[in-house]
Amino acid sequence: MLPPFRNEPLTDFSRPENQAAFQAALDQVKQEIGRTYPLVIGGQRLELQETFPSLNPSQPSQAVAHFANGAASHADQAIEAAAQAFETWKSTPVAVRARFLLDVAAEMRRRKHEFSAVMVLEVGKNRAEADADTAEAIDFLEYYARQMMRLADSSSQLVPFDAEHLGLYYIPLGVGAVIPPWNFPNAITTGMTAAAIVAGNTVVLKPAEQSPWVAYKMCELFWNAGLPAGVLNFVTGPGEVVGGRMVEHPKTRFIAFTGSRAVGTEIYEKASRVQPGQLWLKRSILEMGGKDAIIVDETADLEAAAEGIVTSAFGFQGQKCSACSRAIIVNDVYETVAERVIARTRRLTVGNPVENPAVDLGPVIDQEAFDRIRQYIEIGHGEGELLIGGGSSNPEDGYFVEPTIFGEVAPDARLAQEEIFGPVLALIRARDFDHALEIANGTVYGLTGGVYSNDRLRLERAREEFHVGNLYFNRKITGAQVGVHPFGGFNMSGTDSKAGGPDYLLLFTQAKSVAERL
Ligand code: NAD
Repeated sequence: MLPPFRNEPLTDFSRPENQAAFQAALDQVKQEIGRTYPLVIGGQRLELQETFPSLNPSQPSQAVAHFANGAASHADQAIEAAAQAFETWKSTPVAVRARFLLDVAAEMRRRKHEFSAVMVLEVGKNRAEADADTAEAIDFLEYYARQMMRLADSSSQLVPFDAEHLGLYYIPLGVGAVIPPWNFPNAITTGMTAAAIVAGNTVVLKPAEQSPWVAYKMCELFWNAGLPAGVLNFVTGPGEVVGGRMVEHPKTRFIAFTGSRAVGTEIYEKASRVQPGQLWLKRSILEMGGKDAIIVDETADLEAAAEGIVTSAFGFQGQKCSACSRAIIVNDVYETVAERVIARTRRLTVGNPVENPAVDLGPVIDQEAFDRIRQYIEIGHGEGELLIGGGSSNPEDGYFVEPTIFGEVAPDARLAQEEIFGPVLALIRARDFDHALEIANGTVYGLTGGVYSNDRLRLERAREEFHVGNLYFNRKITGAQVGVHPFGGFNMSGTDSKAGGPDYLLLFTQAKSVAERL
């Protein structure tokens, strides 16, 4: 019997001993910089001549690790190895599968700061953001272990039928292609992998090109825990080549993807094509982008609203799918809220999180993101009024972009419609609450949203009409907690799944009903 699930506590960095422990982990991880990592297929390490670097975005001249540049043929090998391992893993008892997750959770908890320190170096998270990412990874392991044990034999939920002995079993699907993004490189990678494995599937994991190091370390925990060879295969390389082949392969049974709308829709289309020899329709679990809004009305606590907007807009440099990129403010309080948001933004610091433990914003992930965000800032100059920020570093010295806010942006402007995935916030003036709600719903996405209001009836209207998967009232819109805020969006934000929720594992299983005549 397991104790009830509890969210992993976050580290209190105001305590000097925690700061020291984190610094020690960072110093230790720095000793590992520059190593080369192999593919791992069917339990075999496969070193390749050709590698690619994982760069430190705070100092792009530094390769924190090198990874094998896999090809489509490696994806094929890995899918075959996973298909073979599936034959035994699928009948491994659920309690045993769950215990692997609990073992990995325990080890990751022991080495928590090490995992977080890797993310400070590899993706430019500050300490608190990295710590929250690792805590969420641990949560997914603990939560899905419990959820699978609950789900495994659901026979007791059937309506009794006297003439027959009944069974309802959630059995695995087969080989899963797990394709995560770089922005929650521990939490999302661990979560999708753990869900697939505990449900009895086998996995080919292809981490994002920007964050393979933390993904490899997570896989090592599973391998070191004794997970049978071939249950978790690790293949690095270009997304469109390796990931593309994983999606297409006829032995792939499902795809668990989190990333951009462009890649997600491409995968959706590709996965729907039945390949020669394929025995099933592939299942696609796709979590994609957002253009998330916070509405503020005239009854709201305006200081709290300003705080919620700034935290949601600029946490991890705005590189969260849940980030607030639109603040929709009713006319009466527009100026006041704008002033307070600007004042709070002015206090944010931008810098290298490896060197500076107290920095608010680190770098954006890579040159491509840096260029794209700067382009949007250019577009913003034509679409609104620059209220603060707009500047950026010399990219050779790190990909730093100032937190940037444009005011008086029209609801249909590109800045108000397209996902930028960086520290750029658009302020939009609404006539009144009705208008604000209409603007909020006026994009192709439906991921997160927030309302700051003290009007009960308006909150109830938003509860019903604000069409997003995760809606928050009078609080920030980022930081969903496993089990507490099941996470995932509507429309072009994904296939309506809820990571960290009680029904997530259904997506990784199929139900078998058995009736035996008595
Ligand atoms: P991305 O779409 O560029 O890449 C995601 C993954 O897909 C990577 O592993 C990449 O290598 C792989 N990939 C790229 N091309 C592929 C192809 N043709 N076939 C198969 N795989 C391919 O996204 P990203 O830049 O890593 O992540 C940022 C995006 O993720 C944002 O849009 C963000 O909103 C979204 N996101 C969504 C959620 C959510 O829960 N809805 C959570 C985090 C991030």
